[in-house]
Amino acid sequence: MNNRHPTSFLFDVVIAGAGPVGLLLACELRLAGVSVLVLEQAESPHSPLKKLPFGMRGLTLPTIEAFYRRGLLDSLEAPGRQAKPEGKPRKQAGHFAGIPFDYDRINPSMWAYRLPSPADSNMAAEMERVETVLADRAQSIGVEIRRGVRVEGFAQSADGVTIQAGDQSFEGRWLVGCDGGRSVVRKGGGFSFVGTDPEFTGYSVQVDLADPEKLKLGRQLTPTGMYFQTQPGHFGMVEFDSGASHRTGPITLAHVQAVLRRISQTDVTLTALRVATSWTDRAQQATEYRKGRVLLAGDAAHIHSPLGGQGLNLGLGDVMNLGWKLAATVRGEAPDGLLDSYFSERHPIGEQILAWSRAQVSIMRPSPHARAMESIIRDLIATRDGATYFADRVWNASMRYDLGDGHALAGRSAPDFEWTDGTRLAALLADGTGLLIDFDHRAPLRSIARRWGDKVKYVRGEVKDRLGLTALLVRPDGIVAWACEGEVNPEDAVEAGSRWFAVHDGG
Ligand SMILES: Cc1cc2nc3c(=O)[nH]c(=O)nc-3n(C[C@H](O)[C@H](O)[C@H](O)COP(=O)(O)OP(=O)(O)OC[C@H]3O[C@@H](n4cnc5c(N)ncnc54)[C@H](O)[C@@H]3O)c2cc1C
Repeated sequence: MNNRHPTSFLFDVVIAGAGPVGLLLACELRLAGVSVLVLEQAESPHSPLKKLPFGMRGLTLPTIEAFYRRGLLDSLEAPGRQAKPEGKPRKQAGHFAGIPFDYDRINPSMWAYRLPSPADSNMAAEMERVETVLADRAQSIGVEIRRGVRVEGFAQSADGVTIQAGDQSFEGRWLVGCDGGRSVVRKGGGFSFVGTDPEFTGYSVQVDLADPEKLKLGRQLTPTGMYFQTQPGHFGMVEFDSGASHRTGPITLAHVQAVLRRISQTDVTLTALRVATSWTDRAQQATEYRKGRVLLAGDAAHIHSPLGGQGLNLGLGDVMNLGWKLAATVRGEAPDGLLDSYFSERHPIGEQILAWSRAQVSIMRPSPHARAMESIIRDLIATRDGATYFADRVWNASMRYDLGDGHALAGRSAPDFEWTDGTRLAALLADGTGLLIDFDHRAPLRSIARRWGDKVKYVRGEVKDRLGLTALLVRPDGIVAWACEGEVNPEDAVEAGSRWFAVHDGG
């Protein structure tokens, strides 16, 4: 509990939803010393849909780096990592609308500021494992998680937010809606949510088949849709019905059989339906991520087709960006505009991902036009430039926030420098502070770092490869705020840092 505020608010931040996004946000806020309560409607964190194979989630570079930098990567124990033993890279590096691209075609010189690092460019993880790792971390550092508590509404005042959940109410100085695609916080807060209507209903199902030989394993595009059988009886299916069958009633065995027959164009027979859920490619995004003391993150702020494997990554990226900014705001240590930069930095990234997901849907349609475009993409993706382009987009490896004109690294993820004693940049970021890195040792950067108190660590020493840089300022989320080659002008560091860090008393 934070007792620096003479108010009755029990928690600095209340988070609605203990999905991966809510849990990572809780970890980030608590790391920065803020008190956090997470309210989750489900009694149990377990679900067959979170376990393999349904719970398989592709993670992209910014996500993997986030786990790595907070010391959580090894605990993910992802099958994707295990399948890539040292020195034997997997062949397939990713896909666009199911069209694979291979590692051996990718030109790594595209990423001039990327150093070899334990953070892979892509990997797979199980959703339940991701949530377990994050919940364990959150609770170990003092986050309170209450399960079986559904947020139903809230009222905000100038000082805080009162949250209603059945006959209980909770007080927080801030509320963050991480409550998924049908967010109560988004709807209750009157956020507008705009975008495009669905083209298909998608299903994840586990069934028993009387005649399994009638359906192939792997991904099958058919004249009426698409199905993929990841292992016997486990299907993803897509039917282009404009989303008409999504959430219109219970998903019965008869319905799943009819859909599978239509898509596969066989007379396959189901004898049992064990697991079933549906989804669509509806692509919508909130036009604001904050109203007063209420914020949105993750699927609550944006939804899109899951087939491109980006939604979790987008949401986790939101909260790596938001966590330290909201914490600084709660503590009264945020420079003007810091919290607003959450929206201005993350909304454009969300827009890009929604557009990327629409592009994939457009070439999966069961139409001659889509097939024609798909065959062109297949040709392009098989080239070196094509594979490199798609890898860059799918891995989100060149993600950059617009921090204005400056060094090419500003706004991008910091390289994982390795100091000669073996320390890596990621380890220095584990406690969630910023870094002022001084490779030059001639400018008075140490005293500049002191201006920001314990929010920025001053780091010097020799690294194995400094990539031609003399100094750089790294934000707590691992994004480079300022970088310099050649002679350092200390005033530039001061100016860049003043945008992200308040001057500490006596600093
Ligand atoms: C089939 C499928 C495959 C996918 N594959 C990938 C992939 O490979 N890569 C990828 O990046 N993404 C993928 N995604 C998307 C990804 O799963 C989501 O984007 C991600 O789970 C969003 O996380 P979240 O925490 O924002 O929301 P959620 O995971 O939906 O969590 C929200 C939480 O809030 C709780 N909640 C909801 N309402 C309330 C309330 N009123 N009060 C309290 N609690 C509430 C829910 O119970 C839930 O626990 C896939 C999705 C699907 C459906």
